[in-house]
Parts: sequence; C-alpha cells; structure tokens
Amino acid sequence: MNERNLLMIPGPIEFEPAVLRALGEKTRSHLDPVFMKAFARSLKRLREVFAAPSAQPFVVAGSGTLAMEMAVANLVQPGDRALVVNTGYFSDRIATMLERHGAAVTHVRAEPGAVPSLDEVERALSGGGFKVMTVTHVDTSTAVLAPVQALAALGRKHDALVVVDGVCSVGGEALEMDAWGVDVAFTASQKALGVPPGLAVLLAGPRAMAAWKARTRPVASMYLDFAEWLPVHEAYEAEKPAYFATPPVNLIMALDVSLGQLVEEGMAARVQRHVKIAEVVGRAWKALGLEPLPKNEAHRAHTLSALYYPAGVDASLVKAIAQEGVVVAGGLHPALKTKYFRVGHMGAVTMNDVSATLGAIERALEAVTVATSPGR
Ligand SMILES: *Cc1c(COP(=O)(O)O)cnc(C)c1O
Repeated sequence: MNERNLLMIPGPIEFEPAVLRALGEKTRSHLDPVFMKAFARSLKRLREVFAAPSAQPFVVAGSGTLAMEMAVANLVQPGDRALVVNTGYFSDRIATMLERHGAAVTHVRAEPGAVPSLDEVERALSGGGFKVMTVTHVDTSTAVLAPVQALAALGRKHDALVVVDGVCSVGGEALEMDAWGVDVAFTASQKALGVPPGLAVLLAGPRAMAAWKARTRPVASMYLDFAEWLPVHEAYEAEKPAYFATPPVNLIMALDVSLGQLVEEGMAARVQRHVKIAEVVGRAWKALGLEPLPKNEAHRAHTLSALYYPAGVDASLVKAIAQEGVVVAGGLHPALKTKYFRVGHMGAVTMNDVSATLGAIERALEAVTVATSPGR
C-alpha cells in the first residue's frame, strides 16, 4: 500500500507525526518518573476533554469494546434493568453485553439513520426501575448523532445512570459530561483522540462511582473491575508508582502528546472545526448526488458521513476510491450493509485531507459510472 494513501475511515484515522514519534520511542519502565508524569498529565487532560472535572478517568489497554464492557461490568448486576436508546450496530453491541452481565434490556429503536424521539424514550423511562440508560453518541454504522444532552436530562429525571458510548464522538463532537449529567462516557484511542488503536478510555462520574461502590456482588471480570484500577489511577495521578497490570507505556506516551494537541487547540475550537468540515462535506455530497443515511440534518454526525451508493453503483466504489489514493469504509449496519459507504473526517483531519478525499470520490464515481455504462 502506498504510504501516502489517506486513511479516511471512522477509525483508525490519520495520526499526527508527533504522536507516531512518541509511539516509536524507546519503551520506558512503567514506573519511570517521565512515564508517571505523562500518565498523570493525560488523566488530568482527559477531564478537560470530556468536560468532567468531577469524574474519575480510567485508561486501560484494550479497544473501545473493552471500554463498553468496563462500563457495563461495573454498573450492572444480574436482574438490573437497562434501557438502550438504539441507533444501530454499536447500540446492539452494548445491549448484548448488558444481557451477558445479567441485565434485563429494553430497546427504544429507530429506523437506521434516525434517532428515537425524546417522547418515546421518556415513555419507556416512565415504566420505571431502569438502573442504566445507554446512548450511542455517534453511531458509527449510520453516522447518526444522538441528542445526548436532552437524553441525559431524561435519564437523570427518571433516576437512571446515563452511559454514553462516545467512541466515535469524543474529541470531535460537543460533549459536556458534568454539565449534561452524563454518568459514564468512554472512547477508544484510534478515533477522534488521534492515537493508534489499543487504549480504552473511560470516565466515571460520582453517581457511577457510588453505584459501583454500592454493588452487592463483586464485578465478575477482574481485568475490568474499578476496584483493581482505581488505586493504580489514583497513584499515577499523584505520580506515584503502582501496579495492577502493565500499562501500554508507548501508547500512553502517545496519548499524552495527542491530548496536549487537543487542549492546545481547545475543545470548543476543535468541535467548531469538525462542524465546519461537516458543512463542507455536506455541501459536497449534495453536489456529487450522494444521499446521507441520516435524513434529518440535525442528526448528522460531524465526525463521519454515511452515504448511499447512487443508483447503478455498488460496493466496488470503495475499491475505486482506494485506487484514487483514499481509503474509505464500506457499510456496517446489517440491514443496509451493501447499500452505502462511510467516510471518516475526525481528529487531526485537515481541509486538505477533505479536498483530496472529495476529489478521489469524484474521480472514482466517474470511473465506476463509465465502467458500468459502456455505451456512454
Ligand atoms: C469503534 C466503535 C466502538 C468499538 O470500538 P473498538 O475499538 O473497535 O472496539 C464502539 N462504539 C462506537 C460508537 C464505535 O464507533
């Protein structure tokens, strides 16, 4: 593969050279003062990125799926009730996890490309007795953006812990964990945080930590248990040595560099940059005759686009775009998989990357259309 191909999928994304350099440095001891300082700084900066001064951050070796399961394993006990605001593939995944951990799951579903209405969610919550409500902030299978602030307010009103899957949103979309009343939010390094795959990042607010402390049974998974990780994270934040399981030293050094870039840009400016890029690509999709999955513009993510193939075009378009030097992703939602493709535009993405991507898509569309209309 050409090293200068652009990786424009919804994670992993194009990473900043300084982040990759940190990854390539000599690995330090996990008790080295330089490493402890970087870990401590990362934990503090994560509170800034999630707008969650009151939360406890956890950074653990694993992917976003591990972060999902860490939330579920620590909050849920067998017999608890959970409400899943279901917007697609990753909402289904957390529902499966909730069930594996013994919860009784109720779904409030929407058609692919839509979000359940607040009324429907409130009606379900009024049924009462939900310990947790999960929301996928950006569903990566449909590029749908859920109204987390309004949904979290409903969850709070009905006394459910609000869990937000921010794997495709944190570092790109607006998220004010404390102000919005979100109890747990998590992400993974390879999406808008801009670090190669391998880190699960989770922040738990005071209500979530209290619910975990109030458990009557131990967390079934030792690796996921807050009880194992809390002393380690408290120690690292105080730059003191601690050990439970070896931290991914180089990835955390790279995280420190990336979070430094995030807070230097400023979260408000970063979100604004994603909004602006989404506007530019939104106009381009219209000009190219590509229809986004989310029908309602208010529900379109700013971190990625999901687009139906135009009439007469199939998944060979993704290959044709790769031949033009840009890697995009195929469909993921099981109901529509073969009918659409996805383009990531998050993290360190620049307007130059966007221009190159739009050019490649335009040329590829031309190529596949000509190929399938030989009489033209
Ligand atoms: C990517 C993603 C996940 C899963 O993350 P992995 O790192 O692939 O395990 C979960 N939820 C959402 C919304 C995602 O975009």
